[in-house]
Amino acid sequence: MATEIKKALVIGGGVAGPVTAMALQQAGIEAGVHEAYTETATGVGAALGLAPNGLAALDVIGTGDLVRRLGDPMDAIVLQSWNGKQLASFGSPGRLEPTRLVMRSDLYQALYAEALRRGIRIEHGKRLIGVTQTADSVTAEFADGSTATGDLLIGADGIRSTVRGLIDPAAPQPRYAGLQGFGSMNAQAGLVPDTGGKMYMTFGKRAFFGLQVINGSAVWFVNLPWAEPLTQAEAVARGAERWLKELATACAGDRTPAAELIRRTDPAQLLITGPMENMPAVPQWSRDRMVLVGDSAHAPSSSSGQGASLAIESAVELARCLRDLPLRQALARYEELRRPRVERIIKAAERTNSNKAAGPVARVLRDALMPLGMKLISPEKMAWQFEHRIDWSAPAAATATA
Ligand SMILES: Cc1cc2nc3c(=O)[nH]c(=O)nc-3n(C[C@H](O)[C@H](O)[C@H](O)COP(=O)(O)OP(=O)(O)OC[C@H]3O[C@@H](n4cnc5c(N)ncnc54)[C@H](O)[C@@H]3O)c2cc1C
Repeated sequence: MATEIKKALVIGGGVAGPVTAMALQQAGIEAGVHEAYTETATGVGAALGLAPNGLAALDVIGTGDLVRRLGDPMDAIVLQSWNGKQLASFGSPGRLEPTRLVMRSDLYQALYAEALRRGIRIEHGKRLIGVTQTADSVTAEFADGSTATGDLLIGADGIRSTVRGLIDPAAPQPRYAGLQGFGSMNAQAGLVPDTGGKMYMTFGKRAFFGLQVINGSAVWFVNLPWAEPLTQAEAVARGAERWLKELATACAGDRTPAAELIRRTDPAQLLITGPMENMPAVPQWSRDRMVLVGDSAHAPSSSSGQGASLAIESAVELARCLRDLPLRQALARYEELRRPRVERIIKAAERTNSNKAAGPVARVLRDALMPLGMKLISPEKMAWQFEHRIDWSAPAAATATA
């Protein structure tokens, strides 16, 4: 039996929001996006990796190539120790396309513009604060006093989701992972050698540093262990100059170009991306006429390199389930399809975060054991993350195991 959902209210205009709306439109369901901010997210955030599985999910709604054009391939990630010793090297298995490194704001803008081009309504200044439900409708209440009514409300409102708390007031909150994030993209021609399409990531003595040179520009990031759980606003308020000094000191003892690159960074070019967080498993993804998608339901730490890709997959899968099944069954099937996969990836990223925040003793152990561990984690053993595909033409009911 096909869905009875005709109109969905999508809360949040980040990555999952526009993708959900486009996938719903493709499934024959009208969807409008309601975004809290009054403007588009120009210049927000650093670079992120879109994995082959995320690109394939975008292909389902015809936006894969649009996003591929935005980014540069990241053929492999090379992990090294502070002294330059290679600990591991891995990438997508050779039969798959590489991960693409895109600027987070470019991704937001491209998906946003494409959704608008497809006739999807995106309203700004609509911060959801509450909902009321009847037996056959749900009404979103916004901070500006306005409301919107539909058959289903989809919380694509990110890691600090309001919808999550409306579904389950006891829902968990993100936990600080003990690291603050920073990044920059500077024209540094000549200062650092080309990285040959690879991202070099270093477990430094005091900080974790990533670098890829793209078209002569050094794209770099630092995860700095920091005991105080500052919010992003608090981290920004501390000032870029102070952070640059802190970062240069933290990276000074490592045999990488980090300290030099940081010293030459114009404070205006420093992206302060804020606290890195681990999101505990969210026990309840849906209730009545509300459901979560993307970071609101499952936010792997950025260490996974999978946050955006998983958000996109879930958006497409939710639309497929809603297309083919009555509401209650659609939401149950959606969760059944998605939960095991996303939770497995989240767990793996948590382990990476504890490696990054390792103290001196744990660091020595990590450096000794990681090459052995990495032999066990060959690209083939990680292939399940990257090979995941959604068969849009298959009816969701036909894939049900429950
Ligand atoms: C520093 C950093 C690096 C990252 N690196 C990677 C990476 O390499 N690879 C990767 O795949 N992922 C990465 N990620 C994660 C990735 O950015 C997220 O997983 C992805 O953006 C999730 O999309 P989303 O739409 O669920 O949430 P978001 O992109 O956060 O969008 C949520 C939207 O909802 C809006 N909103 C919030 N509350 C409300 C409300 N009450 N009412 C209305 N609107 C609301 C917000 O304004 C926002 O626009 C990284 C994240 C960070 C912070």
